[in-house]
Amino acid sequence: MNETKVYINVDLQPDFFPGGALGAPGADKIIPKVNKINEKARQEGGEIIFTYEAHPHNMGAHFEKYGRHCLEGTPKAEIDPRIKVSEDHLFVKGTEHYQDYLTSINAKDLDGRTLAEYLLSLGDNVHAIVYGLLLDYCAGDTAVDIAKRGIRTSLIRDLTPALNLKPGDDQRAIDRLVAAGVKVI
Ligand SMILES: [Zn+2]
Repeated sequence: MNETKVYINVDLQPDFFPGGALGAPGADKIIPKVNKINEKARQEGGEIIFTYEAHPHNMGAHFEKYGRHCLEGTPKAEIDPRIKVSEDHLFVKGTEHYQDYLTSINAKDLDGRTLAEYLLSLGDNVHAIVYGLLLDYCAGDTAVDIAKRGIRTSLIRDLTPALNLKPGDDQRAIDRLVAAGVKVI
């Protein structure tokens, strides 16, 4: 049986690129590479998913921890315009003030399905290929949570920059990914 490849672009939003509220240095280098892998995947009939955050102004604990970012109703709550989005599958998260988490596993699409529900609905032979922003936050957490659902999961390191607020956060994130069964490629 052929593998169903699902390409999961995590939180490619202006606030996580340089110049943004939680911008990772050099993260914009991934933009052409991400566009390229997505375009190739579309041509091959693979499925492209984008997750993104859209936070209300009264975000509470999440903003106390991370500062204000991805505010709903602003371009910061959308996918960065340098990233090409076609007729892809979008999942949004963090839309309620009590949702203090980083993972995209419970992000919802227009039909109200979570990312986890959707991936599990695709059958037994799914391969989730995760990349985006950031290794030591949302992208890493998302890959860990997908793998925990028993889904074959890879993370493309070259397309997943780290913020590294504390030195070594990148390596700790990779250790967590590997421990969860994610293949870091
Ligand atoms: Zn957030």
